Amino acid sequence: MKLQAKTTLLTVSLSGAMIVLLVTVSLVSFRYFSLSTAKDHVRSAAEIVRVSLTEAMINGVIKQREQFLDRLSEVEGLLVARVIRGPHVISQFGKGLDKELGADAIENNVLATGKAYFSMVESAEEPTFQGTIPFVATSVGTPNCLACHEVVNGTVLGAITIHLSMRKLKEDALVTISIMFGIVVVFAAFFTIFFRMQISPVVRTAQGVSSVVAKAKDGDFSGRLNYKGSDEMGVISQDLNQLMEHLQKNLWDISHDVASLMHYELSGNTNMITTTTEMVETLLEVAQFKQSVEEDQTIHEVYQRIGHMLMDSFGVKNFSIYEVSTDQEYIKTVMVDGEMSGDIDGDIDSACRWCSPVILHQADACRANRTGHVVDAIETEQICGRFNQDSRVSEPSGHICIPIFHSGVVGSVVQIVIPRKDGILYQKLLPFILVFLRETSSTVETKRLLETLRETTLRDSLTGLHNRRFLEEYLDTLLATTKRKKQRLSVLVMDVDHFKDVNDTYGHDVGDIVLKAMGTLFSAQVRTSDLVIRFGGEEFLVILQESEDYSGRQLAEKIRIAVEKLTIPIPGGVLRKTLSIGVAGYPSDGDNIWDVIKVADMALYEAKHNGRNRVEVYTSKQ
Ligand code: GH3
Ligand code: MG
Ligand code: MG
Repeated sequence: MKLQAKTTLLTVSLSGAMIVLLVTVSLVSFRYFSLSTAKDHVRSAAEIVRVSLTEAMINGVIKQREQFLDRLSEVEGLLVARVIRGPHVISQFGKGLDKELGADAIENNVLATGKAYFSMVESAEEPTFQGTIPFVATSVGTPNCLACHEVVNGTVLGAITIHLSMRKLKEDALVTISIMFGIVVVFAAFFTIFFRMQISPVVRTAQGVSSVVAKAKDGDFSGRLNYKGSDEMGVISQDLNQLMEHLQKNLWDISHDVASLMHYELSGNTNMITTTTEMVETLLEVAQFKQSVEEDQTIHEVYQRIGHMLMDSFGVKNFSIYEVSTDQEYIKTVMVDGEMSGDIDGDIDSACRWCSPVILHQADACRANRTGHVVDAIETEQICGRFNQDSRVSEPSGHICIPIFHSGVVGSVVQIVIPRKDGILYQKLLPFILVFLRETSSTVETKRLLETLRETTLRDSLTGLHNRRFLEEYLDTLLATTKRKKQRLSVLVMDVDHFKDVNDTYGHDVGDIVLKAMGTLFSAQVRTSDLVIRFGGEEFLVILQESEDYSGRQLAEKIRIAVEKLTIPIPGGVLRKTLSIGVAGYPSDGDNIWDVIKVADMALYEAKHNGRNRVEVYTSKQ
């Protein structure tokens, strides 16, 4: 219940109780005093009658008492005045008047006991007070009763019954109590109004504080109290106003500082407290995230961390991370839905689950890369025609593609794919995701540079193929994948026939041209999942995943024929070369890949021995 209602209820209840108490006390007192007064009146009237009758007796006019008694009843308020003779008087002076006979039970009792009797007879028309007073014979005083009456001292000579009307008294009592009631009601009303006026500032201040605090809880500190009094409420109002001003100014400054740190736009109806708290929490998380990213060893780990951030912190299930080549020519998918898209066993389908594969070969086809702007298909549907709604996902999806800048140009693109129904939520989360990505972009760039540097040590600079060191480093991954997929591998060791002659005849540079042409041909002949390695000099290695329709021998034959047909343009003409290939299988021909390479090399030797330009598959007889 509100304070004002409570106080009103209290004052009204108190006033009501006071009125009831006063009226009750007044009624009881009035009744008591009325009865007491009536008793006195009856006694006085009885005494007057007694004195008058005695005087009449002394003066010898007792016989005319009837007239006196009749006129008594004309006295206002005196309803009955009846004299009754006692037995002694009757026996001495006779029965007397008719109206002096016929005593009732009460009168007989008074005559017998000599004790006065009083009673109140309540009646709606005529409330009456009745009293019967005995006349007792006494020798004391003048006249001496015993002088005339032949009785002993204390004998009851007679009695007088008097009925007094109490109507007037009752009416007076009602009027008095009504006036008193009126006065108390007026007083109570004044008291209530006065009390309400006194607590009104308290109530208004309490209501004001409540509404100001409610607004503040929603991040709005513009609420103020208007009470200007100099009492305690005035002090509270001033203090609260100062506090709100302080909070408004400082929180606003803090919010804007934090928002500008996050490149976040604060709107007018933002809850400053919750938004600032969220922003500060995000900045803390970002700081921790950034430190973790810096401490990661490889770009691979960094991408995985970004993937976990998207999945764990923002609940994104579907997303892709693309790397744009430094020459802005092509794009490489590095992660799809949390899985690294490895160079070794990645296939084009999973590499481009959420985008047209066109972007892989044509970096400009990616809108986020081309424009350097966030591409938000939640805000603008169909903004990018390259988006690919995966048929495995039945729910309509939207995408937001975020370009990440490395030294002023787009270095990577993060593509978030979300159900359309969650679009609004993710637009709100976007500024927070952007902070994470922005804050880690420089580390991603550094790690990518290091990775590129490392990558160059794993590739042969002449042909662009992977080198022997790469094979050493990736062998574990390769074998683990092979075992996991329960696959067989074929190893092709390939050597150009009479290559020395090229060097000797045309020079070393033409030899290099031939080696380059070989490298290009090999890459074109194998699948993306197969590995081509320049193993050393003019010796190459192909490691392929065998299948029913794709054996090492078939591929070797295909390559041999392709080389045989190849015309290599050289300065001043063309050149043709042939190739000898030795083939062996893993794990059928060796427990580890180096043993398999060794036996494949033996098969190659066999091919050379048997006339070159041929394929030999290793058999245990060799
Ligand atoms: P065979 O048919 O028996 O293989 O005869 P071959 O002449 O090819 O003999 P071999 O394989 O021993 O010859 C290797 C030659 O390859 C020797 C070396 O000068 C040459 N060579 C190795 N690396 C390079 C290179 O990077 N560039 C050039 N131009 N030549 C290279
Ligand atoms: Mg050789
Ligand atoms: Mg050779």
